This record gives sequence, C-alpha cells and structure tokens, in this order.
Amino acid sequence: MIDVKNLTKSFGDLQVLKGVSEHINKGERVVLIGPSGSGKSTFLRCLNLLETPTSGEIIFEGQSITDDKCDINKIRQKMGMVFQHFNLFPNMTILKNITLAPVRTGLMNREQAEKEARELLKRVGLEDKADSYPAQLSGGQKQRIAIVRALCMKPEVMLFDEPTSALDPEMVGEVLDVMKELAKSGMTMVCVTHEMGFAREVADRVLFMDEGKILEEGTPGEIFTNPKEQRTKDFLNKVL
Ligand code: ADP
Ligand code: MG
Repeated sequence: MIDVKNLTKSFGDLQVLKGVSEHINKGERVVLIGPSGSGKSTFLRCLNLLETPTSGEIIFEGQSITDDKCDINKIRQKMGMVFQHFNLFPNMTILKNITLAPVRTGLMNREQAEKEARELLKRVGLEDKADSYPAQLSGGQKQRIAIVRALCMKPEVMLFDEPTSALDPEMVGEVLDVMKELAKSGMTMVCVTHEMGFAREVADRVLFMDEGKILEEGTPGEIFTNPKEQRTKDFLNKVL
C-alpha cells in the first residue's frame, strides 16, 4: 500500500530523516517506536506530505505522491491522521467537526455524512455527544472524536502520532480500545506510540527509529524479547 524509498528530510542544516525505506502492506498494523527527536513524527508527516520530503520517493497504492503531478489532496483523503493534540474545531459541534471534511470535499452530502457520523459515534460509545462542543468533553472523549472524524473520510490507512501521550492516565485505555477495535476491523495502521502493551498486542511489525533511520524492525516478540541492537535495548530498558 505504501512504499517509501530512501526518504530524507532536512530542516535547514539539520538532517532529521537519513534515508528511510519501508514497505507497508494493506491491512498491516505497524508500530513505530524510538527516542524523542529520532524523527518519528517527521516520518509520519512525510507519508501524507504534511512535510515535504527533501529527497526520496513515496508511492501510495501505485502512485508516486512525491511527484509534482500528484493531487495530494485526493491522496490525503485516503490517509486519516490523528495527532497527540486532538485539533478539533472549538466553535463547532462534534457532529459538525466530523461531517465538515466529507461534506466539503464532496465525498458525501450532509445527510449521508451525518448518518455515517452517528454510526461512528455509536461505535466509539459517544452517540450522545453529537450536539456537544469539544470543550464539554474529556481528553479521552476528544481523542475518540478525532479518530471518528478521520474515519468518516473512509480512509485506506490511519496514521496515529502518539494519540494517548497528552491524556490523563485513566483515559488512555478508552482510546487504545478504539484503536484495537479498528485494528481488528482490518484497517491498515501506522502508529507512533509509547504504549508497549498496545504494540505487543496489536502490531504485526514494530519499527525502531533512531537518529533518523529505522535501526531495527521485527515482530513484537523479536523487538521486545530479543532486540539485536544495543540502542534498541537501551531504549526498551528505559520505557519498559
Ligand atoms: P520525534 O517525533 O521522534 O520526537 P520529530 O520528527 O518530531 O521527532 O523531530 C525530529 C527532529 O526534527 C527534532 O530534532 C526536531 O526538533 C526537528 N524538527 C521537527 N520538526 C521541525 C521543524 N518544522 N523545523 C525544524 N526542526 C524540526
Ligand atoms: Mg513526535
């Protein structure tokens, strides 16, 4: 589904991604771990061109999205993204937050979008919040809404950038539960997270990023139980 070839990204003199090559298959659940500042967010943001790669190529479903001729807005619609901070529009109801993009892009008419939104709200246990505003919700509820908002665009892949890092501990579980349910449904997912229990349970593959490169990758069993690289061991010793 996604083919990344020798991706580099620099901010001025700082080279953040130093040649990353990866292949993400349809239906695969990939978890990306690594120290702070290693380039995880930059990698994720390059996948849907929220950051412009300095060099390299990204191919999504057979189409080169780093090519100038590519309509990136069309591609972005197929890639849902959920951030650490939920980025909901504070002045709009939950229903409006969710239906805005599918209606604006012409994916659905308002009636269809609202029907879809209510079904998704039900799926995450928040059907009674349709007419609330973001400020009336807890952090965990807001993040579940952010996931629903991304899902309403019917994406082919979901990208998560530390979706539980900004939450109070007691709200982490409810967001991870939604992500686990999504994984079970067969969604292709790329998740940056420090939740190692989630990674063990859900990931088909764990990538360890260090200093702008994927230093090591494998199944959760391989990475967590039997890491090969010293830097992976050092990192896991700190977080486990
Ligand atoms: P991670 O998500 O693994 O913590 P990031 O991808 O956010 O790492 O950042 C990697 C490095 O790139 C850091 O040193 C960070 O300061 C730098 N960086 C990220 N975004 C920018 C930017 N927009 N401008 C300049 N430097 C940036
Ligand atoms: Mg980050």
